[in-house]
Formats: sequence, structure tokens, C-alpha cells
Amino acid sequence: MKSVNILTVEALRDNYIFLLVNTKTNEAAAVDPSDAKPVIRALTEHNLRLTSILLTHHHADHIGGVAELNASISGLKIFGPANETRIPLITHPVNTNDEVIICGENAIVLDVHAHTRTHIAWYFTGSNDLFSGDTLFGGTCGAIFEGTPRDMFEALCKIALLPHSTRIWCSHEYTSMFLPEALRFEPSNYKIAQRIAKVSKIRAEGKHTVPLLLSEELDTNPFLRFNNPEFANALGCPTGWPTFEQLIKIS
Ligand code: ZN
Ligand code: FE
Repeated sequence: MKSVNILTVEALRDNYIFLLVNTKTNEAAAVDPSDAKPVIRALTEHNLRLTSILLTHHHADHIGGVAELNASISGLKIFGPANETRIPLITHPVNTNDEVIICGENAIVLDVHAHTRTHIAWYFTGSNDLFSGDTLFGGTCGAIFEGTPRDMFEALCKIALLPHSTRIWCSHEYTSMFLPEALRFEPSNYKIAQRIAKVSKIRAEGKHTVPLLLSEELDTNPFLRFNNPEFANALGCPTGWPTFEQLIKIS
């Protein structure tokens, strides 16, 4: 994805809005704009033209800025999950496995419903960039509000099967909060301890831990390590294969 760049915009308390930028044309797409003001500021600062909005799910901290952006910018394409009446203003409803071109790049729609009934993720095949909303975070997964643990398990499996070099642009900065919990279940996993040290340095410097790297999540995120024997033991599963239901219950 040589001609595309991704900018992170901080919003609300711990939300991230991402701007996918085509550096040749200066067109941009905003992912989950929870607030219009910081998006408009970033567009002005970088001299960008917003042409699309990509949405993952209906929560206010993901769509809160859509109406204002739509009112102030004409011709916006607004992409979001089909069959979701709780998101107004969608101009381009999408379904699982749909492929769309955004800022000149190919994106596939992944069905990752669990956090909400119609939650989707956007995977850019050329650059291995995943915009995952509230499905996976650094060291943990999203809350299951409308799906079942099985739904979340399937959503996380889809993410785990992407190339290990995939960058995961999740919507909240939660990494430092949840990694200590991961270490509690896998005390001998030195990669978790190393990551905790790395993350606290990053945060102390005021930097972001997002994008996450899928390879690092596979090494340290309990919700991608449900078949790890030590972790299973900590959950009291003598078979070595905890169910996802057990995982959800203790977290
Ligand atoms: Zn949410
Ligand atoms: Fe959220």
C-alpha cells in the first residue's frame, strides 16, 4: 500500500479514529468517526479531502461524528453493515465478504459479530491492515453485548487466521490495562512480561500501542491463546483445552 498512509486521531476518552489517506490524491477515509471536530482538524492540518466513512458497529463512540461530517462535507460515501437500522445515513450498506475499493485500496468486509449483532471489520488486503472496531484489543477482546461466546470465538479465529504481519487498528487504547491480567494466567510466558514493560514505556512517552501486531497478540493475548496448556491449567481445565465459555467467565 505504497500510496496509502494511516493517521491516528485521538477522540473522546480513549477512542481512536483512523484516517486512511491516499498520499497521491489527498483523499481520505475515516474509520469510526466518534467525533467530527478532531477529524475536521486533522483534515485541515494535513490538507485532506474526506470522501468516505467506514463504520464497524452502531455504538455512539464509533458513529457519533457521522451526522456532523455528513452535513459539512458533500458527496460522502458512508459504508456500514447492512441490516443495521441503528446506524442512520449509511449510503453504501455492505455484507460479509463484500469487496470495496477505498482510497484506491481493496478492502474485504469480515463478519465479526459478537460485541454487537452486526459488527463488521475492514481488512485491507494489499497492506494487511485490519480495522477491527471493538472486537479485539491489546491483550484482550471486546465485551460481548449482543452475541454469544461462540460468536466471539469465531470472530477471533477469523482474525487469528490473517497473515501474522497484519496490523490491527482497534478502536480503544486498552493495552496497558489488560496485559497484567494475561500474565496472571500465563506467569511463565516471558513475552507477556516483556510486552508489559514495552507498553508502559510507550504510554509513558504519550505514544499509542495501536496498531497492534497480530503476531504479538498471538503470543500474548489470552483470547488468542485458548489452546495453550498453561493457560488451560490456570482455568482449571485438566484436558488442556478450555472452552471459550470458560475463558469469558473468568475474564
Ligand atoms: Zn462498541
Ligand atoms: Fe467502542
